[in-house]
Amino acid sequence: MKSNIEAFLNLVKERNSHEPEFLQAVEEVAETVIPYIVKHDIYYGKNILLRMVEPERLISFRVSWVDDKGEIQVNRGYRVQMNSAIGPYKGGLRFHPTVNASILKFLAFEQVFKNSLTTLPMGGGKGGSDFDPKGKSDNEIMRFCHAFMSELFRYIGPNTDIPAGDIGVGTREIGFLFGMYKKLNNEFTGVLTGKGMSWGGSLIRPEATGYGNVYFAEKMLETKGDSFKGKNVVVSGSGNVAQYAAEKVLQLGGKVLTLSDSSGYIYDEAGIDEKKLAFVMELKNVKRGRISEYLESYPNAKFVKGKTPWEVKCEIALPCATQNELQEDDAKVLIKNGCICVSEGANMPSTKEAIAVFHKAKILFAPGKASNAGGVATSGLEMTQNSLRYKWTREEVDNKLKDIMSNIHKSCLEYGKDDDGYIDYVKGANIAGFVKVAEAMMAQGVV
Ligand code: NDP
Repeated sequence: MKSNIEAFLNLVKERNSHEPEFLQAVEEVAETVIPYIVKHDIYYGKNILLRMVEPERLISFRVSWVDDKGEIQVNRGYRVQMNSAIGPYKGGLRFHPTVNASILKFLAFEQVFKNSLTTLPMGGGKGGSDFDPKGKSDNEIMRFCHAFMSELFRYIGPNTDIPAGDIGVGTREIGFLFGMYKKLNNEFTGVLTGKGMSWGGSLIRPEATGYGNVYFAEKMLETKGDSFKGKNVVVSGSGNVAQYAAEKVLQLGGKVLTLSDSSGYIYDEAGIDEKKLAFVMELKNVKRGRISEYLESYPNAKFVKGKTPWEVKCEIALPCATQNELQEDDAKVLIKNGCICVSEGANMPSTKEAIAVFHKAKILFAPGKASNAGGVATSGLEMTQNSLRYKWTREEVDNKLKDIMSNIHKSCLEYGKDDDGYIDYVKGANIAGFVKVAEAMMAQGVV
């Protein structure tokens, strides 16, 4: 078995040697899916996994735009169309200076499995740009988004590829992108998700990733007869996913101790309650400030510069910022401090070594492709509502989201049980996601 996995990974490494994040994501899948493939004759000779690690298409393009000083700026735009076996490509756009082909290929690859797990008909894709939205005026953001879409529009469409938001891309950016797509195509169509409520957006979509992550963690805790009630919860990030994860934790009776951004984390021993969270939402979403400014209103809290919050004692950890933000030593500290559950809101926030620590300690650990799938699932629900030209109520969407998270949890239980009864959610999510995509690829032949 080991030699099968090694041979496969060597081949992928040869072809993608400068793409560490992509290789990390492939390795995690290969280690759990290859042993499953080997045990099932139907996959013999089909090279399914090798086909899955090669994007169907990777588009890279120039984005030139003019800043407020009248100077011409040039960024690089991308769209990775990874796999369309079970539906049109679907996945977010990330605007962040670290964006490159490796990061987008890792995200697109994960997205294929995640979208499959939702049971909705969506293939996987991801895109974005190395554009840094920090410190840019609204007009600069608009000009950049318009320039970006003036190229991307050729490759997307409501039945081809439906982008959404991700880091640095929220409702404001989706609005500018949608406006330019509509102008160029002369049609009002559900080509992007995460739209505003007055122009085709779905209720609960802004909340969905964070809420879904907490619903998933709740299901995991239930397997131990436990819940969020009275638990100390450490959350990283302070963007879309972190904010709504924190909100749901509070609704379920947990205590949120931390939030963070790329400059450091705040620790509020008294707990970040609803009022304080509303302050953070205003600070981050409207004023576009830094998390350290929390202390100006709540001076009893601490700001720990340049660090991640994993050193704070907690029972539950929700990494909701970015990839590889939780490393092996952090995982050891969490375990030492009594953490019993880690549920990823971000994509691949835990390194491979950190996951090994969680598995060794046999705590509940959910990989992002299962626990943060609520965002894309609700995007799928937004697409359905756009096609129906209809709008479901908040309660209807929230109930569908809960059902989807519960079904993803069931799929993980079906494929993730180890011999000793421990649920390996990484194995469960990878195999459950793989089975459906592989079946569709085999049915469609070698294309
Ligand atoms: P936002 O842009 O709203 O927020 C991102 C947060 O993460 C900010 O607090 C940001 O801080 C912090 N962050 C970004 N990069 C770093 C870094 N290198 N080190 C430390 N902190 C960092 O993004 P989202 O909340 O939408 O996304 C967060 C994560 O969730 C990402 O991994 C994304 O892929 C994933 N995700 C998002 C979904 C969605 O629906 N939005 C769906 C599924 C997954 P700062 O402001 O300083 O940059």
